[in-house]
Amino acid sequence: MTTKTCNINENKSHCTCTFSCGKKGVCCECLDYHRSRGELPGCYFPKDAERTGDRSIANFIAVVKQQGSSFLK
Ligand code: SF4
Repeated sequence: MTTKTCNINENKSHCTCTFSCGKKGVCCECLDYHRSRGELPGCYFPKDAERTGDRSIANFIAVVKQQGSSFLK
């Protein structure tokens, strides 16, 4: 059995979230936290929307309707 380890520092280098949080770089915990609240992690939002802190799925859909989804690439 292979044990997969998490590279927190590498994850942090890709993280676009501007909020201070103990889950930064621990993507599984970040995703679990926001999913449990009916939200998406900060990395699903473009810079301007990420800064608002509104991680709701409704906000994500509104942003994609307005800006398209190319910011995710
Ligand atoms: S998206 Fe949320 S859980 Fe993830 S690092 Fe940012 S504040 Fe923390």
